Amino acid sequence: MIELIDISYAYSGISALKNINIHVEKGEAVALMGANGSGKSTLLKIINGLISPDSGVYKFDKEEITAKKLREAKFAKLFHQRIGFVFQNSDTQLFCADVYDEVAFGPRQMGLSESEVEQRVNDCLTLLSIEAFKHRQPYHLSGGEKRKVAIACVLALNPEVLVMDEPMNGLDPRTQRWLVEFMVKLNQAGKTLLISTHNLELVQEISQRAILFDENHSIIADMPTDILLMEIELLKKVNLVDEYYHRHEGEHHAHFHNHNYNL
Ligand code: ADP
Ligand code: MG
Repeated sequence: MIELIDISYAYSGISALKNINIHVEKGEAVALMGANGSGKSTLLKIINGLISPDSGVYKFDKEEITAKKLREAKFAKLFHQRIGFVFQNSDTQLFCADVYDEVAFGPRQMGLSESEVEQRVNDCLTLLSIEAFKHRQPYHLSGGEKRKVAIACVLALNPEVLVMDEPMNGLDPRTQRWLVEFMVKLNQAGKTLLISTHNLELVQEISQRAILFDENHSIIADMPTDILLMEIELLKKVNLVDEYYHRHEGEHHAHFHNHNYNL
């Protein structure tokens, strides 16, 4: 479904991704992990066609995606319909006067009739349990509510692939738990998921496979999530476990979610 071959990217000379190779099959749920600045958001932007790599090849469903193709309105529209992106900061994604219009925006762009649009919007609002916000201003919602609206907007296009950049950030534990279960359901329903996250406690439940970035913007591990979570030295090396390690000091031992860790 998604194939990245030797992708590199730099922001005016500042390297953000180096020689990235990833192959994601249809229906997989994959977590991207790594410290701040390791390149996760940049990679997700490339996958969503928001930026184009300096070198390497990106293929979506076997077709090469290029900046030139994405400039063709027809191609871009179809591509963005098949792959949805939930941004790290929901504020950058929400711009309409009320939640209904926000969720309706994509389906209207697709050229659906107003009654089909209404059906889709209502289905998505129900799916996310946010019917009550229908006529609220997105701007005034809480962080968790905004995230749900942003997800509804993306799902309204019924994409095959869902890409989420740090979806747990800024959410309270109960909303995080809800989101984890929601993502598992989406994956079970056949959606391919690509999620960047720092949340080691929840990542195991969301994805069977994890890809780890180091601070040099390269991939240093691509393996089953439960195995990666036991690679404590590797996680320490990329600054993903220090915080936990200290927080649990003084207790009998440090652990995430199971008791397999020897710390
Ligand atoms: P992550 O999402 O893993 O935190 P990013 O992909 O945001 O990492 O960033 C990768 C690297 O690129 C970092 O060194 C970051 O400072 C740099 N970077 C990200 N966005 C920009 C930008 N718009 N301009 C310049 N440098 C950027
Ligand atoms: Mg990021």
